[in-house]
Amino acid sequence: MRFIAMLMLAGMMLMAGPVAAPWLPVGEAAAAASVEEQAGAPAEVQTEVQATIQEEMQAAVQAESQADSQAEGVAADALATAATDLDEVFVLAHPAEVDLGQPFVVRLTSGRALKDVRVTWMDKTVRPWVGEWNGKHVSLALLGTDVLYSKPGVHHLQVRALVNGVERNFDHPVAVKKRQYPEQHLTLEQKMVTAPPKESERIARDRKAVRAALQTMSPERQWNLPLLRPTTGKVTSLYGYRRVLNGQPKNPHRGLDLRAATGTPIKACENGVVILADDHYYAGNSVYIDHGNGVVSMYFHLSERKVTVGQTVKRGDVVGLAGATGRATGPHLHFGVAVQGRMVDPQTLVSSNVDQLLQ
Ligand SMILES: [Zn+2]
Repeated sequence: MRFIAMLMLAGMMLMAGPVAAPWLPVGEAAAAASVEEQAGAPAEVQTEVQATIQEEMQAAVQAESQADSQAEGVAADALATAATDLDEVFVLAHPAEVDLGQPFVVRLTSGRALKDVRVTWMDKTVRPWVGEWNGKHVSLALLGTDVLYSKPGVHHLQVRALVNGVERNFDHPVAVKKRQYPEQHLTLEQKMVTAPPKESERIARDRKAVRAALQTMSPERQWNLPLLRPTTGKVTSLYGYRRVLNGQPKNPHRGLDLRAATGTPIKACENGVVILADDHYYAGNSVYIDHGNGVVSMYFHLSERKVTVGQTVKRGDVVGLAGATGRATGPHLHFGVAVQGRMVDPQTLVSSNVDQLLQ
């Protein structure tokens, strides 16, 4: 109800004359003009702005009631030190529960300067980039759990931020729920199920390089949601499938397999920097791209790599050609995404926007 009162005030102030930017629920897709820009506009424009404000008030009220609703599973924390000062609004939003293996978003929105944000989740701390949107300071963190290594149960999300120079700390529980992913039986060449001993050194070297790449935590957020699907081919294997190879239970599948004929161009899912490009025993020709704030995407089984380590890529740039190198039953792309070193479900990230990952 606090929000409603403040928004009513925003509406009244608009009628009276120039006002500061309205408090809006931050949504990346929205393209509302700022009231500051419109303040001196003719009457009909003011009316349009007024209508926009009313719609936004309704949206905000709806958003608040959603945040209050346990059914929606959204947790939000709002603080307003003075109802007359709209710039004081601070909102921390994140889901109250997530399925094991699924990525989620934490969003901080502030009318005042937001600095030194630190989000800690399951012993990893990310310092998310703070940007400005419509006069508000906004910080987004992409977090998640790994179907293989993370434990279901209640975990604590810790957020620390300097809001207008004042340190604020939050400790919120997030329930990680077990999800039963389907079983998948595959038949492969035996040497690809159990590697011959002569390959163990190479496999250890591959693992070490991958582990280091996945620890990358660069300061600038380059990702936006949804991510670009790297190729249009149909899904042949989903994230989380419990794999049985030649009758032996193996680790769950921690990526998304997309059908792609050998030679099909494979595109970068977002802007970033190539941090690893090599030929690995299991993954074959692979490329790893850092998108900032602990988000790394990867592309396996390529017939050819088209980028080198250190190269900057744009969303949609071709990083390689599809193939069947490494442990593959046929030509396809294995697309993976890690957040702070945890492999999460890429399908969710290519099909959801930020707002959907807050619920
Ligand atoms: Zn795969």
